[in-house]
Amino acid sequence: MTINIDDNRYEIEIVKKKTTRNTYIRVKPGGVIYVTTNTRTRDKDIIKLIEENKKSVIKMLSKQDKKDESNTYFWYLGNKYDIVYTNDSAIVLGSSKAFIGRSIDIDKWYKKQAEKIFSEHLENCYKLYSRNIPHPTLTIRKMTSRWGVCNTRSKRVTLNLELIKMPLFCLDYVIYHELSHLIYANHSKDFWTLVEENCPEYKKIRKYMKED
Ligand SMILES: [Zn+2]
Repeated sequence: MTINIDDNRYEIEIVKKKTTRNTYIRVKPGGVIYVTTNTRTRDKDIIKLIEENKKSVIKMLSKQDKKDESNTYFWYLGNKYDIVYTNDSAIVLGSSKAFIGRSIDIDKWYKKQAEKIFSEHLENCYKLYSRNIPHPTLTIRKMTSRWGVCNTRSKRVTLNLELIKMPLFCLDYVIYHELSHLIYANHSKDFWTLVEENCPEYKKIRKYMKED
């Protein structure tokens, strides 16, 4: 059985059991809508129920879609690799494939690479910076809504771990952005002039990061 939701066709897998009292809707890999219900529930009632809960079904579908995508592709420094799972406990990058050990904690691996790359780039951007600024310290963590944060009081720059998936020019832009906050705490015109002074391509890069 299939259903059309917003012009997309989805497969519905139904499991009916005498012992199941309620109807549950879930989404499985590949965007299959999985329904468990009682033997007496009619198929048209299932369709009706899915339609009535369209909003939450769409939410589940897009969540699963993201999950499927991260199980298929591996991103590193702006490059996209096809994931091949292995029994090794390592991540090895080929030209287009990423060989990833099943037991590997990918975020831990990203963090390890980021610690080296981000600190090198922060140091380099600091050295090249057009004005005198205090030497910043670095924190790396996963953030959901920002690429970077600058604590002007403690001179601490926090970079989003997700930047490890992006090209290095994005990392440098975010670093210059945060370093500029050591002079202007706001996003005033002067601030952006200072960003441009250090990162002339910043407008293009911001656009790239928003579209990504
Ligand atoms: Zn800012």
